[in-house]
Amino acid sequence: MTVEDELLEVLACPQCKEKVYYLAEEDALLCGECNLKYRVEDDIPIMLIDEAEEIEVAEMDQLLDKAER
Ligand SMILES: [Zn+2]
Repeated sequence: MTVEDELLEVLACPQCKEKVYYLAEEDALLCGECNLKYRVEDDIPIMLIDEAEEIEVAEMDQLLDKAER
């Protein structure tokens, strides 16, 4: 099971309030603005800046290409 599409529609990055993108292969959510990756645990996105992982810009570009848009 993955994050529901409807849930994804309302999810926003807690830092910049922009839409986040779901990366199915890592079961994670990406913010291209902040270059942060939010993990998903038990189908619940952990939308906490403190818990997010910082991603290099170049790597983020690659991840966003694979994420659902
Ligand atoms: Zn953000």
